[in-house]
Amino acid sequence: MKHIRNFSIIAHIDHGKSTLADRFIEFCGGLDKREMDSQVLDSMDIEKERGITIKAQTAALQYKALDGNIYNLNLIDTPGHVDFSYEVSRSLSACEGALLVVDASQGVEAQTVANCYTAIDLGVEVLPVLNKIDLPSAEPERVAQEIEDIIGLDATDAVHCSAKTGVGLQEVLELVVAKIPAPKGSPDQPLKALIIDSWFDNYVGVVMLVRVVDGQLKPKDKIKFMSNKAVFLCEQVGVFTPKSVQKTALSAGEVGFVIAGIKELQYAKVGDTITLDSKPATEALPGFKQIQPKVFAGLYPVESHDYEALRDSLEKLKLNDASLNFEPEVSQALGFGFRCGFLGLLHLEIVQERLEREFDMDLITTAPTVVYQVVEKTGEVISVENPAKLPDPSRIQEVREPIITSNILVPNDYVGAVITLCTQKRGVQLNMQYMGRQVMLTYEMPLNEVVLDFFDKLKSVSRGYASFDYEFKEFRVSDLVKLDVLVNGERVDALSLIVHRANSQYRGRELVAKLRELIPRQMFDIAIQAAIGSHIIARETVKAMRKNVLAKCYGGDITRKKKLLEKQKAGKKRMKQVGNVEIPQTAFLAILQVE
Ligand code: GDP
Ligand code: MG
Repeated sequence: MKHIRNFSIIAHIDHGKSTLADRFIEFCGGLDKREMDSQVLDSMDIEKERGITIKAQTAALQYKALDGNIYNLNLIDTPGHVDFSYEVSRSLSACEGALLVVDASQGVEAQTVANCYTAIDLGVEVLPVLNKIDLPSAEPERVAQEIEDIIGLDATDAVHCSAKTGVGLQEVLELVVAKIPAPKGSPDQPLKALIIDSWFDNYVGVVMLVRVVDGQLKPKDKIKFMSNKAVFLCEQVGVFTPKSVQKTALSAGEVGFVIAGIKELQYAKVGDTITLDSKPATEALPGFKQIQPKVFAGLYPVESHDYEALRDSLEKLKLNDASLNFEPEVSQALGFGFRCGFLGLLHLEIVQERLEREFDMDLITTAPTVVYQVVEKTGEVISVENPAKLPDPSRIQEVREPIITSNILVPNDYVGAVITLCTQKRGVQLNMQYMGRQVMLTYEMPLNEVVLDFFDKLKSVSRGYASFDYEFKEFRVSDLVKLDVLVNGERVDALSLIVHRANSQYRGRELVAKLRELIPRQMFDIAIQAAIGSHIIARETVKAMRKNVLAKCYGGDITRKKKLLEKQKAGKKRMKQVGNVEIPQTAFLAILQVE
């Protein structure tokens, strides 16, 4: 055990975690050159294209250190996007140390701070590493100072490295060996193994990635899950190098996989403790807090006969993505579909993309919404995940919306613009702290405003320099109303929104104006109205078609949401017949385009 080191790499997105992990694997000979795909730890196709890490992966490496000993380094890769921050803390709870990678040409960003504090909270040893020093724009001294000013972490010994050229790599590994403590725990105690991750494999069934804290686990052992008491026969244990390699046992301090002929993922819950049936541990390990989906959207098949296929596809996706939630839902406008819960906007986008690409589904997606708590006059509290389901105002005592606390790191020059944006988004400033060239702004904001377009706006008002991170705080009473859209007098449930009363007039006007642009002309006039209750607040008309009317074109914007809209436009022309009017997919996401 003295020669084991379990560590993660944490960083803000794009600072070089995955590249660095790949270099380590190469350096330690886990794979030969031919096997070394461009980035092996990011294994899903979408990850490769988007360059983000979604599922935490792991690699057991053998490193011959300068002291002459061979060390077993277990590297656990972590995602860097705010939507997946809970996976970061999961990975970190299997580690004694973490490399905090900071891009030396960029500096400290919001997830650098958030992930670093998560690590410190978990008692993990954090070692700062300055990456990308090969870039001419790298300023390692300034960035080291930022690490000290903003995070308060001593960065005097931070290694300068380049995951691209390999410079400084060995120094980083030496630091891992020297500074990260060896795991504690005892192989003679009853088995306690923490499930860090689990997924379904078509050939072997459920695969669990575990960190053995105490005891030993071998094939033919009868294992028991401490939460549900289910017992299974262990078939295989091993490690990923990152290829899977079977072993005769996993012992205290080690990280590896367990296969036990389990067909259903629900038995192998992430955060549960595995013990031995014959000699069980008395207490389970602390585990992880349950995560709740934050963002909801309706997913509907374009062709109603694809409903069952969509259900099958969602079920398959759920096998490997426990954070995805879905329930059947019926919309008057869109027919049978599903209300799905996601961790955030990026998660929604990834699921949507996988459904389209891997499962060949044609989908209509409704605008994302948060979950509201509604207190009815009867005193009953209900959750509303679909604006169309908001009860009649006469039955409502109060509506509560989710509030987040967010930290925004932004260079001094853009502070004014970011404050203006946060105020527009109903934000309340809690703190503002100057830290060298950057400012840390702390705001409370309604999640609803953030989900719609905050991230893209933040990037655009700060020319890409601001970064942000958030945490759910509480549900808070707010003056919210339902905004309905009527097309030729018919209410289209899939277009309903919940908005703050103060913004409702304006949002209503903007939304119908946008819809007028997005709904193509047809053989007759189409009236588009926005209403709050029975009160019509805005109206536009799509004029009947005349000859030679060219389809309208709209200039592109490079933000993510707009790209999503573009892609949908480019794909099959997705139209849904609502009453006698054909409504395109883009119209259902029109609110995302409202300024
Ligand atoms: P992650 O999001 O933290 O996993 O970041 P990646 O490892 O995917 O890297 C983001 C981008 O930075 C990729 O285009 C990498 O090729 C590039 N990159 C990573 N490390 C270095 C480095 O040391 N030098 C340079 N010049 N580019 C790097
Ligand atoms: Mg990555």
